[in-house]
Amino acid sequence: MTSAAIAIIGAGLAGLTCARELTQAGRRVTVFEKARGPGGRLSSRRQLNSTFDLGAQALTAQHSDFAKQLRVWETEGCLQPWKGAGTLPSWVGSPRMSALTRHYSKGLNLVTATCISHLQATEDQQWSLVDTTGKIWGPFTQVVLATPANQALPLIDQASGSLKRQLSQVKEDPVWVAYFALQSTSLPTANCLQPASSYLRRATLLNSKPGQESELQRWVVEATPRWSQEHLDLPKGEAARRLFNIWANDMATELPSHPQLLDAHRWLYGSVSTHLQQGFLEDAEQQLFVCGDFCRGSTAEAAWQSGHELAQALRKTIQ
Ligand SMILES: Cc1cc2nc3c(=O)[nH]c(=O)nc-3n(C[C@H](O)[C@H](O)[C@H](O)COP(=O)(O)OP(=O)(O)OC[C@H]3O[C@@H](n4cnc5c(N)ncnc54)[C@H](O)[C@@H]3O)c2cc1C
Repeated sequence: MTSAAIAIIGAGLAGLTCARELTQAGRRVTVFEKARGPGGRLSSRRQLNSTFDLGAQALTAQHSDFAKQLRVWETEGCLQPWKGAGTLPSWVGSPRMSALTRHYSKGLNLVTATCISHLQATEDQQWSLVDTTGKIWGPFTQVVLATPANQALPLIDQASGSLKRQLSQVKEDPVWVAYFALQSTSLPTANCLQPASSYLRRATLLNSKPGQESELQRWVVEATPRWSQEHLDLPKGEAARRLFNIWANDMATELPSHPQLLDAHRWLYGSVSTHLQQGFLEDAEQQLFVCGDFCRGSTAEAAWQSGHELAQALRKTIQ
């Protein structure tokens, strides 16, 4: 007998973790991702012959099971230890953050560049997924939403009031990120800086990461959620220019007036400010499930933990 089919929407760390563990347990899993590749907020962008980590800069572990997983990824060659800013040991993707999720998604049935717009219940109590081009996928017995909470809500109209109520308690904030490359050699060379102003939450020198050495100094500067919210609708060139100026001011240093590259990216649901206190959400009657960083916190560890806990629970359900 073939096993029941599961659809997972979102190929960030939570969705990939859930997909991988269920696939290894012999379940038939298909992952749908709207971007061209997996990774979500662990992604990197290639520009000017080099790459910029635009989401998470470093992975740390508060709990022993994630610490063990980080060491497995290190052994498998997609992570390397890095001396970041905090006191906890940290790891970075090698040669860029997206190397982790590229590696982790190998062997999965992953459908990229496919944005799911809604779910349809079938006559035999299964689910079809409809993408934004109108294409219908399925049927699936179980559906997992592994997107930010704000992107999951519009997809689960049919779910119970309780699931929707819990999901709407999550608060996610935008994060503007500016990234730039400088010719200068006279800049501070600390790996990761806590900027002086209250507009920036972190500035990371990418060159200091193992495997990311380059002649140009490459920085990623993250605005605070507050600054990001107040400047939500800025054109990205303008956001990049303003964040670069704030950073230059914070660094109190002589800067070349024209960076070789200056750009920005806006994460609309970048950072979780109110999370749930449970591993995942479920509507058992409808066989709809939700996982993501916001279930347990606001970090890659929380995303992994949530995907892992949901996979453990689903392994015990219909085969
Ligand atoms: C700027 C920034 C810096 C950060 N720094 C750190 C850090 O240093 N350390 C750390 O541990 N964490 C950090 N984080 C947080 C960390 O990146 C996230 O907690 C984690 O990556 C979230 O994983 P996830 O799988 O829950 O969600 P996501 O990574 O957001 O994955 C969700 C996926 O769902 C896809 N999707 C959404 N809607 C649809 C749809 N309708 N159809 C198909 N696909 C869809 C998205 O494209 C995305 O790929 C940072 C985040 C940001 C934004």
